[in-house]
Amino acid sequence: MTNEMQKPYRILLYYKYVPVEEHEYFARKHLKYCKELGVLGRIIVAPEGINGTISGTVEQTEQYMRDLKSDPRFEDIVFKIDEADEHAFKKMFVRPKKELVTWRFEDDVNPNEVTGKRLSPKEWMEMIQRDDVVVVDGRNDYEYEIGHFRNAIRPDVKASRDFPEWVKENLEQFKDKKVLTYCTGGIRCEKFSGYLLKEGFKDVYQLHGGITTYGKDEETKGRFWDGKMYVFDERISVPVNRTEEDVVIAKCYYCGKTEDRYVNCANPDCNRQHVCCEECEVKYKRSCSDECREHPKNRYELENKFNETKAQ
Ligand SMILES: [Zn+2]
Ligand SMILES: [Zn+2]
Repeated sequence: MTNEMQKPYRILLYYKYVPVEEHEYFARKHLKYCKELGVLGRIIVAPEGINGTISGTVEQTEQYMRDLKSDPRFEDIVFKIDEADEHAFKKMFVRPKKELVTWRFEDDVNPNEVTGKRLSPKEWMEMIQRDDVVVVDGRNDYEYEIGHFRNAIRPDVKASRDFPEWVKENLEQFKDKKVLTYCTGGIRCEKFSGYLLKEGFKDVYQLHGGITTYGKDEETKGRFWDGKMYVFDERISVPVNRTEEDVVIAKCYYCGKTEDRYVNCANPDCNRQHVCCEECEVKYKRSCSDECREHPKNRYELENKFNETKAQ
């Protein structure tokens, strides 16, 4: 690839479990720094570390990576980089929180002490094809819906904090099997796989670097991933499987046609995310109900008025 093909923006995804003292002060300072730099996105800072996803120009993101790595606590942090045509966020948040991912385990897990064995994309691809393994999606149900590893168990949860109960009700039977977990960038599996070990699961593995890394890997090319990967930015979903067997698994909310694009309802008070094909987006004004369609603040109406004005 030549440099001419490089897109002007980048999206970074990163995390690190490392003690951060006075995390609220760190968050305030970091927000000021991010605003001055001009990057946009969402960063969480907790006493146990940092987790972020931001967008900016190539220059801004290069600067951000250099600056964060110059802090000894984060010198070995791994950045997953996506190229983009524009920002993937509208605002900049740095939020101090108790936990990087809200699990609320009764007995907290320190992933630097207990966590599942890490598998590289290639090792993962080999493992998931065996018949003595159980693959568990470590994300939420709406993320699973639009894309997941073939044969992975769908977690019936809306948020990470619902996992403990779901595990007790659904996974007990697999305690002696090899259990494999995966998530978007790897952060959720750090604690989730550790939690499974503490709960008595004998042999637990995690996809190192998450689906993001797996999809970019030259050997796996995202193989055995069906559908797209849900992301927490304006893109909503991105492709993973770069082999010929790429399949679409979701269906349009309106017409039922196979489709894998998520949109947000155009009623700003609803904002409900739903799968919608391009034709139905126009036909139903990207609104999930009659009520939303007729809402006075309907964004679809406003956007199209704006576009008409621009065209004149
Ligand atoms: Zn449709
Ligand atoms: Zn709606």
